[in-house]
Amino acid sequence: MTDVFREVRERVSAQDAARHYGLTFDRRGWALCPFHADKHPSMSFHKGRFRCWVCDVGGDSIDLTARLLGLDAMGAVERLNADFALALPLHRKPTQAEAQQARRRLEVAGAHNAFEEWRSEFINRLNAAFREGHLLLLEDDLDMGRLTDGQAVAIRMHETFEHWSDALMFGTPEEQAQIFRERRAITKWIDKVLNP
Ligand SMILES: [Zn+2]
Repeated sequence: MTDVFREVRERVSAQDAARHYGLTFDRRGWALCPFHADKHPSMSFHKGRFRCWVCDVGGDSIDLTARLLGLDAMGAVERLNADFALALPLHRKPTQAEAQQARRRLEVAGAHNAFEEWRSEFINRLNAAFREGHLLLLEDDLDMGRLTDGQAVAIRMHETFEHWSDALMFGTPEEQAQIFRERRAITKWIDKVLNP
């Protein structure tokens, strides 16, 4: 019996799928990642697979199609089968190996969603911390000598919070990755302001 996953993977590369579904490529053959706010192509392709170096996710044409179109693995196989005219016989029960692969693919998709969830929540918290300092500085009768520790940090750090938030929203892949690596230290500053 044909392993349809292997068959699709061998006949359609991740790059083929990326082109077919409209990703934008640069001259090096890297693509703008559709899974984060990518301004400089951070998705590379190698041996039929893709990888986004910011999201830190990768996979084959099936993974890419599933994520792009919001399908499960079997749905992506069906879609690729139709869009690339592969003419594979799909309407049968999946083998045990195929069912196992489908489960593993769901787990990988979950890891990607976890990054995006972290990113948007972290941006919200950075913005909240920025706002604290920003609003304090707008107060006419602010007594700098009577600030709480949290307020002092809010004022001292507010431009830095804004910088981190901007970098995470609009920064290069490298800048976003840098913030992800430093997230624990940054969280301590946020907590001093939001949870004193
Ligand atoms: Zn990405």
